[in-house]
Amino acid sequence: MSTSATPASAVPTPAPAFTGGTVLGYPRIGRRRELKRAVEACWAGRTTTDELEATARDLRLATVSRLVELGLDATDGSVPGSFSFYDQVLDVVATLGAVPARFAPLTDDAGRLDLAGYFTVARGAGEDAPLEMTKWFDTNYHYLVPEIGPDTPISFVDDRLVREFVEAREAGVVTRPVVVGPVTFLALSKAADGAPEGFRPLDRLDDVVAAYADLLRALATAGAPWVQLDEPALVTDSVDASFDELSAAVRSAYDVLGSQLRVGAAAASDARPALLVAAPFGDLRGAGIDGGPARDGLALLAGTDVEAVAVDLVKGGLPTGPVPGLATKTLVAGVIDGHNIWRADLAAKLDVVDSLAGLGAAALAVGTSTSLLHVPHDVEDEVFGGPETPGTVLDPRLRDWLAFADQKVVEVATLAQGLAEGREAVGDALAASSAAVASRATAEGVVVPAVRERAAALTAGDFARGPYAERAAAQAERLNLPPLPTTTIGSFPQTPEIRRARAQWTKGELADADYTAAMREEVARVVKLQEDLGIDVLVHGEPERNDMVQYFAEHLDGFAVTANGWVQSYGSRCVRPPILWGDVSRPAPITVEWSAYTASLTDKPVKGMLTGPVTILAWSFVRDDQPLGDTANQVGLALRDEIADLEAAGIGIVQVDEPALRELLPLRRADQGAYLDWSVGSFRLATSGVVPATQIHTHLCYSEFGEVIGAIDGLDADVTSVEAARSRMEIVPELHDAGYARGIGPGVYDIHSPRVPSTEEVTELLQLAVKSIDPRVVWVNPDCGLKTRRYDETVPSLENLVAAAKAARATL
Ligand code: GLN
Ligand code: ZN
Repeated sequence: MSTSATPASAVPTPAPAFTGGTVLGYPRIGRRRELKRAVEACWAGRTTTDELEATARDLRLATVSRLVELGLDATDGSVPGSFSFYDQVLDVVATLGAVPARFAPLTDDAGRLDLAGYFTVARGAGEDAPLEMTKWFDTNYHYLVPEIGPDTPISFVDDRLVREFVEAREAGVVTRPVVVGPVTFLALSKAADGAPEGFRPLDRLDDVVAAYADLLRALATAGAPWVQLDEPALVTDSVDASFDELSAAVRSAYDVLGSQLRVGAAAASDARPALLVAAPFGDLRGAGIDGGPARDGLALLAGTDVEAVAVDLVKGGLPTGPVPGLATKTLVAGVIDGHNIWRADLAAKLDVVDSLAGLGAAALAVGTSTSLLHVPHDVEDEVFGGPETPGTVLDPRLRDWLAFADQKVVEVATLAQGLAEGREAVGDALAASSAAVASRATAEGVVVPAVRERAAALTAGDFARGPYAERAAAQAERLNLPPLPTTTIGSFPQTPEIRRARAQWTKGELADADYTAAMREEVARVVKLQEDLGIDVLVHGEPERNDMVQYFAEHLDGFAVTANGWVQSYGSRCVRPPILWGDVSRPAPITVEWSAYTASLTDKPVKGMLTGPVTILAWSFVRDDQPLGDTANQVGLALRDEIADLEAAGIGIVQVDEPALRELLPLRRADQGAYLDWSVGSFRLATSGVVPATQIHTHLCYSEFGEVIGAIDGLDADVTSVEAARSRMEIVPELHDAGYARGIGPGVYDIHSPRVPSTEEVTELLQLAVKSIDPRVVWVNPDCGLKTRRYDETVPSLENLVAAAKAARATL
């Protein structure tokens, strides 16, 4: 590597880039989920890794030619090379050979994982836990968290990206390889087990950057004109590094990658492709934290010697005056929303692009705000029709309102043409897009006066219950529960029989009445099992629910569900988020019959089970034409009606799950307060219409509360169940210290593993819990729902849970 620093002034003004527009990434799972099927077949041993490689190659080539067909330039690096077998962060781990020590035996002499080893790091093997998984910025995508220590091997060992570039070029498309940037890679990593106190992954920046430099040299040698490095760590306040630290890391990394290596350098050892640094998911500029100085990630990136910067203009904004440093760069204006499914008003988007002229960039290009990974492939894969059309169908009006990945590529290409040739050149397309957006605004169901009037009439009283002490007394008298009452989080195992019945019913092969009868039988079985186990508060087991959000979306007005709108959630897992397009209301009770039927089978108290407004929003594509808080209140009101009906049917306990409360937390600290206000408000709106004797539970799927701990108290639920088994009840003292003094059900059975916890283990966890909190408020329950478990694991686990609770009661 050349060590002589090249002064920034030596960087020539680049030729305009991506003049036909670009997208920051594209779904990789396949329009028919081909990659999911192929990967899972390989995992199951039905195919070899060679066969999987061949399928993946076909898929990649189909993807790049599709992108060209949709309008991206095939020759200049506008087509992203954004494939991954599992996860883009894991891909960096593989590229750098940065494999945790426990998986070192899987690597070859060069430190490289083969494809089987790559999957093992993702999924674990025996005692060797996989990399931890966590949420990717404000999306529902989950990445694998690298573990970096002082001794983790780090060098450029795997040239898969180079091979994929060559593969596409040989097929006639010059792609732009997309890689998570070095700073973001380390900012998202955690310190490996055994790393010395005070060690942080960012301490390894020089090694990581040296490896990236080798990767860039290899790509330049292969002829790649561009590489995209994603640095979204710059748009969030939630990584474990201050802005000063991130800035120093960016300067140092891009001094090596941007300044020391050069485009077109004579010596291959000094050459690199042009660099596009992308900052998706938020605003590069943020207010200071706790009175600190404002953060300006745009000025920071503009000050580096990269050739292009991509900014998210859906979530973020830009200054109006010139930004020093941009004069030598292409600014990729991310005006098309990569994270939602609405068709854009293209004329308005061109206005935004035009407004950027004052920034003084060398050139402007049109792009998406984020990778299109977060939206489904193609609106044309949906079936549009009316109630008589079989299968899952969408209201035909939606066809014109939606833009999935393929439609967004066309939007980008259209805007780029408008930018290059003038608006007249794309006049028809602009007019059509404006008309579609206008038709949505005035369409029946988008604004429903009755829903609006009800929301407008809400007062503070609609968001508040009476004092907890009164509620607790009334509930104790009504429910008459033993101390340390036992319950579950709601779902029981979704058996193959249940899944089969639902699949048949969806296809029209099983009549409504037969399906309902089968599910009622299942409920009866689950009630009997809970009675036999001696559980105190019973549930119906949720057999009738395909998914905790989709089920409600299917029963509420204002939502649509797709047939093919799959989005990768993690690895081979895909979800099909509902589309919340109109004002939300509840045409009829949803769960009441199920809960009432359950209650008719037992003398024990039965807990009704609902999904909360924030989680319903978080796991749907939401409308973009009003504040999220307004939408949340509409869902809150629909749930409030459902709870009133449950109450009227004699159900004394209702649980409203909010596992996504923390997920939607804004990336910038300054925005979090407003979010917590409306999110907590919508939950309270849903739950505060009940009499004091009705007990409201909530459930959150995690144990690290951090920034949301105050909000959990704010929900004002009578009982809160949380994940706690793996963290050994850590959350209990934390909640107590934060002032939370109502019922708490810290999970004592880790349902994420097939292991059956012994009675002694559960007892030990219970003893830990009651050490820091009054035993009278403690509930005994698993960490989460049991739907992904099997009965042969669930039954003995619950037996031990009940035995431990009974034994603990005796010692109180
Ligand atoms: N009630 C739901 C269940 O038990 C809760 C699921 C969740 O928290 N994600 O399945
Ligand atoms: Zn959960």
